[in-house]
Amino acid sequence: MFTRRKYLISSISTLLTAMSSTPCLIWAVDLPARRSSTIIENWKRYLPTKFDQIEVEPRFTPDKLRLEEMLSALEYDVLLNQGTEMPFSSSLNHEYRPGVFLCKLCGLPLFSSNMKYNSGTGWPSFTETIPGHISTKQDFSLVWPRTEYHCAKCGSHQGHVFNDGPMPAGKRWCNNGVALKFLPKAS
Ligand code: FE
Repeated sequence: MFTRRKYLISSISTLLTAMSSTPCLIWAVDLPARRSSTIIENWKRYLPTKFDQIEVEPRFTPDKLRLEEMLSALEYDVLLNQGTEMPFSSSLNHEYRPGVFLCKLCGLPLFSSNMKYNSGTGWPSFTETIPGHISTKQDFSLVWPRTEYHCAKCGSHQGHVFNDGPMPAGKRWCNNGVALKFLPKAS
C-alpha cells in the first residue's frame, strides 16, 4: 500500500536525486576551508613574463550604460545581471594550457591554470582561487541558498561555489566561461 509516509520518502528521494544530478544546483554545505597551499602559492608562475599585473585596489564600479554597448548580450547578462551561460558552450572548458584566467571586465587574475580541473559539469571549474581576488555572497535567487562569487575589483559576477570539488579544498568554483579571458603564459 502506498501510504502518505512512503509518498513523502519517495518525493524527498526524487528531489535529492534530481538535485545531485544537476551540477550547479547542489546544496551549499559548509566544509572546513582546507586549501592547497602549494597550488595557491605557485599561481604567479603562470603569468606571462611581461604581464603588467593588475591589483585589486583601487576598486571600481563598472559603467553599465557604456558596457551595454561594449559587451555582447550574454556577457552583459552574466557579468552584470548574474546570468548563467549554457553548459558546454564555452571554449574555455577545453583550455588547459599554462596561464591565468582574468576577469573579462577589469583584467584582474582570478584563477591560474593549475587550479583548473574537469568537473564534467559543462562549465570551467576550479579547485582554488587566487587569494583576495574573489568575493562571495549568499544567493537566494533559487529556493535553496547558494554562494555566489564575483571579481573583488569590479564586482562582476563569475559563478557559484559548491562543496563537491576534489580534495584537499573540496570546492568547485563553477565559472561562466564568458566572464573570463584566458591569458596563456607563453604570450
Ligand atoms: Fe573584475
